[in-house]
Amino acid sequence: NQQILLDNRPQGEATVSNFKLVAVDTPALQEGQVLVRHHYLSLDPYMRGRMNDSKSYAASQPLGEVMIGGTVGEVVESRHAKFAPGDKVVGMGGWQEYSVVDGDAPGMLRKVDTKHVPLSYYLGTVGMPGVTAWYGLVKIINPKAGETVVVSAATGAVGSAFAALAKARGCRVVGIAGGPEKCAYATNELGFDECIDYKLHPDVKSMSKALKDACPNGIDGYFENVGGHILDAVLLRANAFSRIAMCGMIAGYDGQSLPLQNPALILVNRMKIEGFIVSEHMQVWPEALTELATLVAQGKLRPRETIAQGIESAPQAFLGLLKGKNFGKQLVKLV
Ligand code: NDP
Repeated sequence: NQQILLDNRPQGEATVSNFKLVAVDTPALQEGQVLVRHHYLSLDPYMRGRMNDSKSYAASQPLGEVMIGGTVGEVVESRHAKFAPGDKVVGMGGWQEYSVVDGDAPGMLRKVDTKHVPLSYYLGTVGMPGVTAWYGLVKIINPKAGETVVVSAATGAVGSAFAALAKARGCRVVGIAGGPEKCAYATNELGFDECIDYKLHPDVKSMSKALKDACPNGIDGYFENVGGHILDAVLLRANAFSRIAMCGMIAGYDGQSLPLQNPALILVNRMKIEGFIVSEHMQVWPEALTELATLVAQGKLRPRETIAQGIESAPQAFLGLLKGKNFGKQLVKLV
């Protein structure tokens, strides 16, 4: 069983030397345990926070342990009545080829249907990132039909689900993404009404002008994934009583500070700004996953995936995700 451990903590930017590849034997199963062979590992921005020992929205992970992360795979051996060899499962097996899981541990292992939804989607659109988009849109932004909503990191795992969910609610949906290829994909494939390439608008003034053009009626809801000058520009275009779902601030994950230029606009516009962590809202997951799976089955949500091959590719692929090299959900394929 090959595993990737967190070997040491990053000083500033994360590098491949923070990780270590090792091989270990898989232990024999105890009563109640299940052996899962992972088909895909999920790579997610929150893992960067876990690499630090400072406060982050995800708990710090101890050194010398397998990198924590979502996995999908197949049960190969079971000593638990609810799981049988061949079952397809989603869990938190981490960056390794196999995991031994306690079948009764809450939220650790769930059987999934792969007849209607491809197995890998349970790590993206019909999984944690999809529910993240759902929670921020439905529970925080709570838009009315006809309102304008904006999302940054628009073509990623969260952003792509956000677009389909917001279109289904009759919103005007504007994305912000890096580069012409991602923006063309956002409008041609993901259903965005417009997409702004933030790389063409590297300062607040220029970004704010681009938002004005894309959002002629102003911004009623913003789903924040990035932070920095994009947030400042959104505040300049925000309508009275607009809402911001604070989901991520990836522009600052390597330790960059993200000062806000115009915080008074929060008051002037009587805005609601709410941060959230999707794993603290398990009660909405069934409803959100049902809607997301339905959108996939109806062909209204066709997410893209970037797939790295083999466990040894995980660190490099993860660093690429933090720099926008991924196009859609970043996965590592093992089988
Ligand atoms: P994505 O698939 O969207 O990948 C990350 C993307 O972020 C990159 O592709 C890149 O897109 C963009 N990005 C990276 N650096 C910058 C930068 N400096 N400025 C602007 N954009 C940047 O990841 P996810 O969909 O999985 O996650 C999106 C966000 O949601 C993250 O911030 C993550 O932390 C957050 N999140 C929060 C959760 C919660 O519970 N609060 C749960 C899950 C995710 P581009 O090329 O367009 O720049």
